[in-house]
Amino acid sequence: MTRQAHHYRVGDATISCVREVLLANFTPATLFPDAPASELAEAVARVPPGSMDTSGEHALLSVHTWVVRDRGRTILVDTGAGNGKSRPFTPYFDHLETSFLADLAALGVKPEEVDYVLVTHLHVDHVGWNTRLDPASGRWVPTFPRARHVMSRVEYELYLDPAHQTGRHKTSHLVQKDSVTPIVEAGLADLIEIDGREHPAGFFFEPTPGHSAAHACIRFRSAGEEALFTGDLMHHPLQVLRPEWCSILDASEEAAPARRRVLEEAAERDLLLLTAHFPATSAGRVGRDGDGFAWAFA
Ligand SMILES: [Zn+2]
Repeated sequence: MTRQAHHYRVGDATISCVREVLLANFTPATLFPDAPASELAEAVARVPPGSMDTSGEHALLSVHTWVVRDRGRTILVDTGAGNGKSRPFTPYFDHLETSFLADLAALGVKPEEVDYVLVTHLHVDHVGWNTRLDPASGRWVPTFPRARHVMSRVEYELYLDPAHQTGRHKTSHLVQKDSVTPIVEAGLADLIEIDGREHPAGFFFEPTPGHSAAHACIRFRSAGEEALFTGDLMHHPLQVLRPEWCSILDASEEAAPARRRVLEEAAERDLLLLTAHFPATSAGRVGRDGDGFAWAFA
């Protein structure tokens, strides 16, 4: 079912969300295995409506793409999991058949009109729609044939390395083969350092390590206004309340100080955060709540 699209204005730009899937397969305890049960229950009681499934037992996680229309350009931020991909180690992304491209078209976005695809990191649920299966050749081909695809050089090289094709990275290795390498081979990739640089104009790739090797939050500026695409810096509103809780999906505890730093800034400046996995509208603002933070969907 296609939900009602929300649109956000940031300066001259319009930003919209196209959802691919909504997952309800993690309980808070499986998502945050180090969090004490009593504190989890207390936090679950405080997150805004729409954060949990109707039973209240599962955290809802959205997978989606942000569509930015700014000064004549069409830019996508993260591209979901994609259709028809073999994902034996992440069954909830295995051989999906969603209406993603039709939902993009309903927003008026044709694949050949996309100018840029920006990815926060190279995980399974962020690069999937980079490619689609071409039935004639049986090959994975670029979905957005004109777009420059901007991504971390460090993560690209990491997942090429045979030493990183097992264990924690085994899905990323599959993803590399069907969703990233075809983009590089087509000459459509801009492999960049994640060091705060601006590329393309108005988008700044800021290092927020911890979830992945070279994870980026992407700051967007237009006509004096600003928003932040947070990627997987955090996965659920529970982490706004408790930024020290790392999710089972994070690579290291380095994620926690990066999360706190971004939440501090967001609260201080009333910054619009465009998340990668929060449910409901997936966008919101951070307020202060005692020594901690509160989340409100926008
Ligand atoms: Zn993710």
